Amino acid sequence: MNSNTEEKKTVEIGSDLIAPPWAKFRKQMLGSFPSPFKSDNDSLADGISLAIRELDKLKPESDKGSAFLGTNSALTIDFENVKDSSLDPKMSTTGEVIKQVIKMFEGLPNWGHPLTMNNVNPQGNTAAIVAAVLSEIFAPNILEGEYAWNVHQAELESAGILANLAGWKPKEAGCIYTYGGSGCWTYHLKYALTRVLPDSRNKGIRTDAKVICSQQAHYTMLNSTDWMGLGMDNIIRIKTDVDTNAMDLIHLEEVLKDCKARKIPIASVVCTMGTTDASAFDPVEKVRELIDKYPNPEGYGKAILYCDSVIGWSWIAFKNYDFKLNPLGFSDAVLPYLEKNYNAIKGIFYADAFGVDFHKTGFSPYISSAFVYRDATEFESLLSRGPSVYLQPRSPYNPLNYTLEVSRAATGSLAGWATLKFFGHEGFQSVLGGILENKVYLQSEMKNNSEMVCVNPEDYGFVTLLRIYPKGVYAQFQFDRELQDPAFRHDLIKHNKMIHLIGDKLFEWYRSGKKINDQCTPYLSYSTGFRATEYNRDMKDPEAVIYAIKIFPLNVHITPEVMNHTLVCIAAARDEVMAHQVVKNTYV
Ligand SMILES: *Cc1c(COP(=O)(O)O)cnc(C)c1O
Repeated sequence: MNSNTEEKKTVEIGSDLIAPPWAKFRKQMLGSFPSPFKSDNDSLADGISLAIRELDKLKPESDKGSAFLGTNSALTIDFENVKDSSLDPKMSTTGEVIKQVIKMFEGLPNWGHPLTMNNVNPQGNTAAIVAAVLSEIFAPNILEGEYAWNVHQAELESAGILANLAGWKPKEAGCIYTYGGSGCWTYHLKYALTRVLPDSRNKGIRTDAKVICSQQAHYTMLNSTDWMGLGMDNIIRIKTDVDTNAMDLIHLEEVLKDCKARKIPIASVVCTMGTTDASAFDPVEKVRELIDKYPNPEGYGKAILYCDSVIGWSWIAFKNYDFKLNPLGFSDAVLPYLEKNYNAIKGIFYADAFGVDFHKTGFSPYISSAFVYRDATEFESLLSRGPSVYLQPRSPYNPLNYTLEVSRAATGSLAGWATLKFFGHEGFQSVLGGILENKVYLQSEMKNNSEMVCVNPEDYGFVTLLRIYPKGVYAQFQFDRELQDPAFRHDLIKHNKMIHLIGDKLFEWYRSGKKINDQCTPYLSYSTGFRATEYNRDMKDPEAVIYAIKIFPLNVHITPEVMNHTLVCIAAARDEVMAHQVVKNTYV
């Protein structure tokens, strides 16, 4: 039916006094669906434009304003009664609903605000956001060719670009955009179980195959082993080096040797490439050698080597950077960090698969994670289910035959692809290097305050972990004793509690819009144990761990002035905590 007949009928019904009410309501609603035709007053274009302008009203005037949206930072949800909700008998209007949606954004962290430095939560870039929004409008479904048509180029080309960066043959590789770094972990585990336990797809998992990862691995290992049905008890944790936090190869070899002797198959070994706080990278090349040295017993497939590189992946964009000529002019302090990070991440070459979170160090909106595999023929045939009776193959690319998901929005693939296209090598290099320039500046400024100490000076990543001590305490000296000497365990715990209170004070200030030097205070976070003390390597003593304030300047709008202001605010929060009489008695 073409538009003219549809419109005419509706008009006739609308002008007809005996038209049934449903037809009137339906006619009213039509204006709130996007026009399928070219139109100068499409409700969608107008609605989006209006909504963005309304949403922008929640932004502060300048960097002096708060790091959350709007003016009311309180949690306004009535948690007791919020579920006591039912469908309205009457219909509403698009405008009214959008107004209510915008209201929900009141108080939300403003991820782009230069004072937002709490975690790996970067603001998405405009190309990626727009690309993602477009996929919501025309809804390509990348489950197969017929519903995605040319849009599935985004996934295929991403696979090629990412494989090329890893040093793989791009035409032989593949990728699947899925639900986050956790989804990538789960995909790798399915790949591993299918390869190592060939019967498992039909008979279920009947063998306790092991998944090996380091003590610093992300907790999503629990999600994946649990949901995949392998069981969390089948994870083996490898010790990490006290200084580098990387996987201890001697311990790994012991475990592999022991499993081999007992005829226990290994499903996979996971190298974490950039842990959240310590930015540790596991030695992939050496791990590959060990996997090859201790193959699985007869009857089982070869173990998978997976790189959980969802944070660290983007350092790979420094491939081909001339660190000697330094064409982008990074400072002498930052240049060696860039090179170290690149040298650490390039080990993904040795993996069977790696994970990419564009929403972390790819400056893209959620959810845009890519699980990238080296051997597409193997992966796709191992997991193949054969064609569906509902759908007919209309293109050579029909990933629904082997994906976990059935329908898959193109949102993530378009966001990731748009970012790759927009950034190029130069963009990634400038943004990542720029973060480290700010970090290095922050750490050099910290040296001017002897009550502060950076407790992760060896690490080359984005985050600065800081401890601040009471007035007059020489932080470096005090921290060294707390780190090494069990005689200072009491001091350590006392100061951990203080860090905890300072962290909460800073959060309270951020949420209440407190100002220092006429500027709002930063949105930071803290770690309640980013590492153990040296005498507590086996973590038997849960309290002998290092607490620290976390500064994660993963934000393109940050300037050196913001770094200085941050240090001023941390010291002020310390003073406030110390001034509190009760606290003073408890901690000093
Ligand atoms: C964030 C993270 C994950 C989990 O990823 P999501 O995208 O949050 O699902 C897994 N591993 C590492 C190392 C991470 O940093």
